[in-house]
Amino acid sequence: MTFRELSEYFYRLEQITSRLEMADILRDLLERAKAEEIDKVVYLTLGELMPAFRGVEFGVSEKLMMEALSKASGVKVKQVEALYKQKGDLGETAQGIISWQGRGLSLVRVYEELLDVARTRGTLDKVMKLINLLKGLSGFEAKYAVRVIIGRLRLGVGDATIIDALSLTMGDKELKPYIERAYNLCSDLGLVAKRLKEGGLDAIREFKIQVGYPIRMALAERVSSAEEIIQRLRRCAIEAKYDGFRLQVHKDGSKVEIYSRNLEPMTEMFPDVVKAVIGDIKAQSVILEGEALAVNEETGEFYPFQVTIQRKRKYSVEEYAKEYPLRLFVFDLLYLEGEDYTVKPYIERRRALEELLTHTNTLRASEMFITDSVKEVEAFFEDAITRGLEGIMAKRLDAPYTAGSRNFNWIKLKRSYRGSLADTIDVVIVGYYYGRGARAKLGIGGILVAVYEPSTDTFKTISKVGSGFTEEEWVRLKEMLDKIRLDHRHPRVDSLMDVDVWVEPRYVITVNADEITRSPLHTAGRTLEEPGYALRFPRAVSFIREDKNPEDANTVEEIIRLYQLQKRVSVE
Ligand code: ATP
Repeated sequence: MTFRELSEYFYRLEQITSRLEMADILRDLLERAKAEEIDKVVYLTLGELMPAFRGVEFGVSEKLMMEALSKASGVKVKQVEALYKQKGDLGETAQGIISWQGRGLSLVRVYEELLDVARTRGTLDKVMKLINLLKGLSGFEAKYAVRVIIGRLRLGVGDATIIDALSLTMGDKELKPYIERAYNLCSDLGLVAKRLKEGGLDAIREFKIQVGYPIRMALAERVSSAEEIIQRLRRCAIEAKYDGFRLQVHKDGSKVEIYSRNLEPMTEMFPDVVKAVIGDIKAQSVILEGEALAVNEETGEFYPFQVTIQRKRKYSVEEYAKEYPLRLFVFDLLYLEGEDYTVKPYIERRRALEELLTHTNTLRASEMFITDSVKEVEAFFEDAITRGLEGIMAKRLDAPYTAGSRNFNWIKLKRSYRGSLADTIDVVIVGYYYGRGARAKLGIGGILVAVYEPSTDTFKTISKVGSGFTEEEWVRLKEMLDKIRLDHRHPRVDSLMDVDVWVEPRYVITVNADEITRSPLHTAGRTLEEPGYALRFPRAVSFIREDKNPEDANTVEEIIRLYQLQKRVSVE
């Protein structure tokens, strides 16, 4: 396949607004791609070069891109800038500037050149590589290559759409669960597509966990009482719930890789964990999961989450690690010496986990006990809260580790606040308002937020949010949103409300609210006969959640459950 052909598919994908049509075009594209092309097609369609956990970034700013465009074409930088101002899109700017035909390069060749740009360190060398790449492309092709490089492809294609399209290529929707499972075990859609192309359904059925490919994380449902935990799970494991940073740790001999909650590479951030895993865990190959937390060694108290997360921004991680030593509370074992543990029941995984850990300062098993008594659960919960923990987690004893899904195998019970919902809600920003009065001078007065609907892979609006941020945060937020602004509603956003500026659904924030109400204005949970759900008195309680992808926002189904929980509580 040539890069021009791929660009033509991108062009078609850009024109449509229906997700069904999108899956059809993608099916056609994936059918045409050969085995050595399909992984690259998948990554590029998602606007990236590799799955996020590989940490490959272009490191090309708009300014650098314009410089390369100018040098490749001989058009002055000022003119490139002027055209960019007029078009508002660097891809179209490149198309407007490039007058040559291009060399009709293959998709694989362009992909390799793109990878080379990303891997080149020095700015000068990067520009040279960019110039070289641009010279080989026609204006039409450059439009898409440039958008990929600066991270603005925005075809609106998400992982779920690719999975749909892949199952369509097998001519059978029934196969979707197998493809999803393979994806959940490796988090790499390019790899899944390639295996499917090479080995058909058998290869997907036999798909195995590999150390170095993160497993999509199992998530917890929530309830509002200890009683409900016991009602649902009967005899179950109760663990402390730590408010830290979730890590998935992969060890292969003396090589350790660490991934975050949203599967980004974190190894460099946690040298102390790497050291402890190499030193204390005797097994050759293992995948563990735990919550990392900064602890005050003198008092044994946990530092607030903010302190733990700080090391993300600190210049010298090593120094910071010394000042705020971490403890990793390990709560699951997913793989051991070539064996897939995700399919084993919790209790067996836990047994093996406890045998594996030597309980050193850095690595500890999470606190756990087994019970079927509501009273014992309540007592442990109260105790956890007084010790400054977030709450408790309950786990079904015979349940496997359900990668990539949220269900009642794990249940969280958190501290709740009077006069507000039992839990905070994670929402995605889909647009913003200019604001009135004092806010108008900031250029942003409120945002429109949405929750996720996995069945259609869309975002449904649930509220406007106008409070909770400081003035400084509003300014920072506006800057971030302006970088991802769109001139129309994103195809995956379902909204009856209008906004002043639409943005790509990318950023997640956490909000609190007094309650959930029914409202005809919002699309979350709305059907032809019934109104949607909305938040009453919402306020932001976090800035952008860097650890969450848009698809990690709460789902419509969870909102409906929270609504029902709240009704039950108010009746009692
Ligand atoms: P989620 O991760 O479920 O989307 P969230 O990020 O908002 O939700 P919470 O609602 O606070 O987090 O609860 C789930 C998180 O709790 C897990 O993702 C994990 O990071 C953390 N956690 C802390 N202690 C444990 C434990 N013992 N077992 C499992 N998870 C734990």
